Parts: sequence; C-alpha cells; structure tokens
Amino acid sequence: MSAQLIDGAQIAAAIHNEVKLEVEAMKARTGKVPGLATVLVGDRKDSQAYVKMKKKACAKVGMNSFGQDLPGDISTGELLKVVRELNANQDVHGILVQLPLPGHIDEEDILSAISLEKDVDGLHPINIGRLSMKRREPLFVPCTPKGCIELLDRTGVEIEGKRAVVLGRSNIVGLPVAMLLLHRNATVTICHSRTKDLPAVVREADILVAAVGRVEMVRGDWVKPGAVVIDVGMNSVDDDTSEKGYRLTGDVAFEEVKEVASAITPVPGGVGPMTIAMLLQNTLDSAKRLMIDEF
Ligand code: NDP
Repeated sequence: MSAQLIDGAQIAAAIHNEVKLEVEAMKARTGKVPGLATVLVGDRKDSQAYVKMKKKACAKVGMNSFGQDLPGDISTGELLKVVRELNANQDVHGILVQLPLPGHIDEEDILSAISLEKDVDGLHPINIGRLSMKRREPLFVPCTPKGCIELLDRTGVEIEGKRAVVLGRSNIVGLPVAMLLLHRNATVTICHSRTKDLPAVVREADILVAAVGRVEMVRGDWVKPGAVVIDVGMNSVDDDTSEKGYRLTGDVAFEEVKEVASAITPVPGGVGPMTIAMLLQNTLDSAKRLMIDEF
C-alpha cells in the first residue's frame, strides 16, 4: 500500500489565499489591515530565517509586519519594555517573540507579558492553561499544533473516537497537540523519552503525531496499517549532494512508513508550511476581535 500524501504546502497556500481575501475585505471596510510584530533577540541564523519567512508571508497576504531586531545582550527589563510598547500599539494585533530566547532571559516572564489579546503564538501561560482545561476556550491556539489538526480536518480524517498517539511532550508541540486531539474526542496517549516499549505504544495509533526531533525514529514496523501519520520533525542532516550541504528530514522514516500508513505528511512540505499559515490566521482573527467596533 502507498499512503495518500498530505500536501501541507498546498493546504497552506489555500489558507494564505483565504486570509488574503479576508484582509482585502477588512481593508475595504475599515481602511485598516492586521499587523504582526515579530521580536527577534540575538543573531541565531535559524531564528532570523523563521522571522524573515513570517514577515514575507505577512506581506504576501497584505498584512503589516513590524520587526523588532534586538541585540542578544538585551536585559529582561528592556525586552519587557519592548513587549509592553507593542501591547499598547493599536496597529499591532499580534505579537510573536521568536524562541528560543538567550539563556539569561526568563522566557516565561516575557511570554506572560504579551497581552493575552495579542498572543498569536498561543504560548501565554493563560492561553496554554485554558487549552488544558475542559470547556475553557483559549483566545489563541499555538500555531504548529493547530496546523496539525487543520491538516487532519482538511484531509477529511475523522478524529473523534480514534486512538491518537503523540510522540513528544514539549510546551510548543507535543502537549498542545495532545490537548487539541483530546478536545476533539480522540483517546490520546502521550509518549516521551521515558516511555517503555515505544514501538508497541505507537502501533496502537490510528492517528500518530511525531514531534521528537529524532531523525527518522519512527520505522515502518512501528505503524499500524492504515494509520494517519503527521510528522512534525524538522531535523537537518548533512548532505553533500544538496547545494546547502544539508537536507531536512522528519521524525518518521517516510519511505518505510508510507507503505503502511493510509496518509502521511512529507518533510519538508507537510507541517512546516502550516505553522506560518496558522500564524496568519491567528493574526487575522485577532485583528477582527480587536477591531470589532469598526465592523
Ligand atoms: P523538544 O526537544 O522540545 O521535545 C522533544 C520531545 O520528544 C520531548 O518530550 C522528549 O521527551 C521527546 N523525546 C526525545 N527523544 C525521544 C526518544 N528517543 N523517545 C521518545 N521520546 C523522545 O522538541 P519540540 O517539541 O520543540 O520539536 C520536536 C520536533 O518538531 C523537532 O524536530 C522540531 O524541529 C520540530 N518542530 C517543527 C515545527 C514546524 O513548524 N514544523 C515547529 C516546532 C518544532 P522528554 O520530555 O522526556 O525529554
């Protein structure tokens, strides 16, 4: 059997288009467009690349982006001041602090300072807390986990009643994606580095979300025939045949697993593009909520 490819790039492009149309309608009605502020601290190349991609995506859909590129030795106090200024700026509807922050800065202090109404990354402790509680709605859901669910929905995968296994329990991916699956009435198992007999647990999954950051860890014989596999992993592997000298690989051994699964995301081109698409959607939703009086 060869699995259906869940084309994240194509699904994300459709979402970009939907957002663009809504931004145009908002501009026609209110004269304003949504604005996203990106806060980049230090000179990590990967963080710079992610922020650049986010700004470019904003421009493509007609949103404003406000870049704050700050030195790596900025103090927590100075960074808090930047965040508070963005909180007060009425042209800014979403604030994204690119993680990770340098070690001397308290990440939770900074994330907690972002206005709840502008927390488009969904990582404010109150938004995460609401996501983890029954019948409490967070204002925003973190982008990568939200993107995983959107991929399932737009592929027509039924979630309710399914056995879902999430590999990884990070605050950014594993834990929130497990919460989202639970809210959608899947029966969810969360695995981590101390889980015993991982292949046997993974084999129970109708829906598998892999977010461990380990190159091709999930093998073909770990997967139940017919399972749907969402590979969040983005691991860089040296590759002399590539122009860049490396290639991106997932947490799932794609060639083996595609012969067993019913549907699977590729890496790259699966979950990755969805993260930015969800950021745009969250920023649009935020602008609509903050400008409600103008509609
Ligand atoms: P973290 O390193 O924060 O978390 C990894 C999780 O995997 C931890 O819970 C860890 O367990 C678990 N784990 C690690 N090794 C093993 C193992 N051998 N067996 C079982 N569990 C293991 O990573 P992130 O959640 O931030 O990211 C995961 C992957 O997703 C990475 O490849 C990252 O690059 C990618 N990613 C992709 C995004 C996208 O847009 N596509 C966005 C964000 C991340 P424990 O808790 O016990 O340590």
